[in-house]
Formats: sequence, structure tokens, C-alpha cells
Amino acid sequence: MLLARKGYRVLLLDRDAFPSDVMSTHFVQQAGTARLQHWGLLDQVRESNCPPVTRMCFDFGGLRLEGSPPPAGDVKEAFAPRRRVLDEILVDAAVAAGAELRERFAVRELVFGDDGRVTGIRGASRGAPEVVESARIVIGADGLHSLVARTVQAQVTKEHPVVSCGYYSYWSGVKVDAFEVHPRDGWAVAGFPTNDGLTCLIVGAAIKHFDAFRSDVEKTYTQAFAIAPSLAERMLGAKREERILGSGEFVNQFRKPYGPGWALVGDAGYHKDPSTAQGISDAFRDAELLAEALDEGFSSRSPLEEALANYEKERDMAAGPMFDFTCQMAALEPPSPDMQQLIGALSHSQAHTNEFLGLLAGTVSIPEFFSEANMGRIFAAAAV
Ligand SMILES: Cc1cc2nc3c(=O)[nH]c(=O)nc-3n(C[C@H](O)[C@H](O)[C@H](O)COP(=O)(O)OP(=O)(O)OC[C@H]3O[C@@H](n4cnc5c(N)ncnc54)[C@H](O)[C@@H]3O)c2cc1C
Repeated sequence: MLLARKGYRVLLLDRDAFPSDVMSTHFVQQAGTARLQHWGLLDQVRESNCPPVTRMCFDFGGLRLEGSPPPAGDVKEAFAPRRRVLDEILVDAAVAAGAELRERFAVRELVFGDDGRVTGIRGASRGAPEVVESARIVIGADGLHSLVARTVQAQVTKEHPVVSCGYYSYWSGVKVDAFEVHPRDGWAVAGFPTNDGLTCLIVGAAIKHFDAFRSDVEKTYTQAFAIAPSLAERMLGAKREERILGSGEFVNQFRKPYGPGWALVGDAGYHKDPSTAQGISDAFRDAELLAEALDEGFSSRSPLEEALANYEKERDMAAGPMFDFTCQMAALEPPSPDMQQLIGALSHSQAHTNEFLGLLAGTVSIPEFFSEANMGRIFAAAAV
């Protein structure tokens, strides 16, 4: 969409047809909804019968942090549109901008020139003969198992072991109007409202519980809500409307996102545990960075290689602190003594609690929040 809006010829290939669903929950943080607004797409999300969310609540089973993160510009609201809603809005916007969309088209391999540069792809629409398409650049926006990344053997530049797993489903008759998380030792339950009056309820667990979890998903998922009595009470009389989906494949890694004739964006280039719900907002940010870099290179404002190196640098700088924070939070270990002190101190100040929640919303910088000066301010305010 972004490249087509800049006037480039874009061929958009997806092996699915839209509306499509992927295995993913879909809470889009304020940083992400601000991009949807900037692109002129937020009203469509709003009109899809998806309620806005302005509050977050972390209930540690004793201490509780609840509030509203600072806005992203003038955007106060997060939204959690179903992927079949969100992805269709994005794809339609790409087509409206002039991109050619071929659905049910599987990319099977990359095509290389004599100099080793990627020059296109080979693939086929369902039931049709194989074709070759050529392009100045092939962008792998093809998810964690990216064929583009695998084929070019994109180097993994940073990684962390898998720390958690999770399952989710959709319920009617539960009142959840915030992004609500209840972490406990090794487990967490969470929820948020989505389209059509449904609530997405998630059970996360430390990866050591994965084998036991998947051996009886329904029982483990259902029983886990007992760890959060305040949520479990609201589930009395509620009905699960859909099947339970989930995974233990929460890989944490950065890949080098460019090379001769190719680039990666979204999960293909950078994937992390979904427990902090950053993936969609991150993919939006990186799409903007990559589109800018390609435009800079193609219009000869900078050499393409240099613009793409800058894309990698900016992506890594923007995503690095949240990557580390996510790996730490997702392990679901009991809060360290330092963290317990911080949570205790935050609970004395609504303004500081909101700032903490802004880390997840993408509206407060992690290094600035954890800086010595800011920690000093938070603990001083709590001591008054
Ligand atoms: C359980 C779970 C919960 C999550 N919860 C959240 C959340 O609440 N909030 C959040 O922000 N993020 C969440 N995430 C992360 C989020 O799903 C991803 O970050 C996001 O989907 C990345 O988008 P993407 O477009 O890069 O990849 P994907 O959404 O995976 O899309 C890849 C696309 O490429 C297509 N494709 C792949 N291979 C080919 C091929 N060979 N030929 C043609 N097409 C192909 C696929 O059909 C698909 O449409 C969650 C992830 C999981 C697993």
C-alpha cells in the first residue's frame, strides 16, 4: 500500500484469499492505531463494530496496575480487530492505491540472476501453471516461516530462546473492556474485547508447560482462568464461541532484512513472543521504514544499499528495547525483588502507572522509563 501510494508498480501475492485469518490474536497498540489513522484506515476499523480500548490492567494477584497509557499523538485508543477484518482493510487499501493483488497465489521459489541477485519469483495461482514474475525488489512479507528469508539464508542477527506458549479463543457473555493481563508464576491469563461483542481470552504459559498444555488443550485452557478469580467470576455463564488455537512456536529473533534484490518486513524479518502484543504495530512501523528506504534508493536520493542498511538500523533501534523487555516478561517468572519494588512504587501514582502502561502502548520509551533519573522520580514520589 505504502509503495503503491508513492507511485511504484506493486504486485501483491498471497497464497490465501481475503478475508483470511491467521493464527494470531490481534491487539493493536496505540502506536499501531496511530499509523492506521495516519494511513486513513482507522475509521474503517472503528466502523467494523470493534470497540476502542483505552485502559490497560495488570493484576499481579495482590498488586494491580490499572490506567490509560499516554496517547500516540492524538490517538488515545487501541483496537483489536479480528485479523479477517484488519487484513482485508489493508489489502483493499493496497489495491485502491494501485497495487495488483493475486490471491491464492503461492510463491514457490525465488529467481536469481547470474550475479546472484534476486530478480523475481516463481509461483502459481491455485490450479494454474507456474509463472515467473520479475521485479526490482522482492519483499518477503511472508511471516515467520518466510520462504524469502529461508531461500536467501537471511542471517539471524539477534536471538533469544523460546520462553512461552499460548492458546486463545473467543467468548460471548464476558465483560472485558480493557487490555487485561493476570500474570502468575509460570502462567498468565489475558483478554480484550473484539468485533461483534466477543472477547478474546488467552492463556499463556512458560514453555516448560507446553507439552502438558498441548496434551489436553481444552482442559488446561479452561482451568487456567482459576488463577485470576476477578476474571473467572465474569466468565460464569459465558460461552466459548470458537475453537481454541495456539502455539509453542514463539521464536524470538531478528533477521538481516535486506540483500541484493530482496528485503524482509514484518514477522519475516523480526519475530518475537506475542505476550506484549507488539507484532502488528511493529510490522506497520517497519513497513513504513522499508517503504521510505526503497523510495530513497529508487529515486537516487541515497544509494539503495545505504538506505536499506539504514532501514535495518532504525528497525533494530526501535525494536531492540521492547525485544529484551518482551523476552523478560514472557518468561512468566515471579517478579524480581527490583520489579516488585517498582510495581509497588508505581501503584502510588496514577501518572507513573500510565507511563508504565505506555511502554506496551509504544508511547513511552523503554530506555527513558528505566533511566536512573526516571526511576529516582518514581521512587521519590512513592516515598512521599
Ligand atoms: C498466538 C499469537 C498471538 C499474537 N497476538 C498478537 C497481538 O495480540 N497483537 C499483535 O500485534 N501481534 C500479535 N501476534 C503477532 C502477529 O500475529 C504478527 O506479528 C503479525 O501477524 C505479523 O504480520 P506479517 O504480515 O509479517 O505476517 P503474517 O500475518 O504471518 O502474514 C504472512 C502472509 O504471507 C502469506 N504467505 C506466506 N508464505 C507465502 C508464500 N510462499 N506465498 C504466498 N503467500 C505467502 C500468508 O498467507 C500470510 O497472509 C501474535 C502471534 C501469535 C502467534
